[in-house]
Amino acid sequence: MRAGVLDIQGDVAEHARALGEAGAEVVRVKRPRDLEGLQGLVIPGGESTTIGLLMEEYGLMEAVRRRVAEGMAVFGTCAGAILLATDIVGSDQPRLGLLDMRVRRNAYGRQRESFEEEIAVAGIEGPPVRGVFIRAPVIESVGPGVEVLARHRGAIALVRKGRILAGTFHPELTGDRRLHAHFLALAAGGDAAG
Ligand code: GLN
Repeated sequence: MRAGVLDIQGDVAEHARALGEAGAEVVRVKRPRDLEGLQGLVIPGGESTTIGLLMEEYGLMEAVRRRVAEGMAVFGTCAGAILLATDIVGSDQPRLGLLDMRVRRNAYGRQRESFEEEIAVAGIEGPPVRGVFIRAPVIESVGPGVEVLARHRGAIALVRKGRILAGTFHPELTGDRRLHAHFLALAAGGDAAG
């Protein structure tokens, strides 16, 4: 299983380590050609405006959309989730727009820039996942066919449609590899519903 991490800005090294520990052969993706042969791609947290603008400049918006249409899985975390959304409240920043959902950036305000909380995730066995939220967005609503896998105090925190996964927190910052393993299983095509 070859999986990539979008290597533009943000938590690249942490995701690369997590994917490796979850059993993938990891590729860092800086240019469209790096996407060849990948079964999955993680889009890390960071600053979604910066990542989106550079993705456009490097031709990666089109290239990622094309590979997803060919069956590549994607997991966007935090800024990565924002980049997957069709609708970003109050912003016209560049985005992939592959998931029908509305997100609000920095939705927790300055008082709660970062925090951690246990989250129960549908489909993940065992104890809850530790959700690390850093200037996190909230997923305010999802369109038809988008499945809600986890909530944090009522707010949607993890969603899935087919092989596309998006979460508002940072699974790469804990030692728990269950979400990365779950993503690799999706990417392997074991469960490609939708
Ligand atoms: N606040 C960032 C944004 O809006 C996301 C934060 C993160 O990825 N940790 O792009």
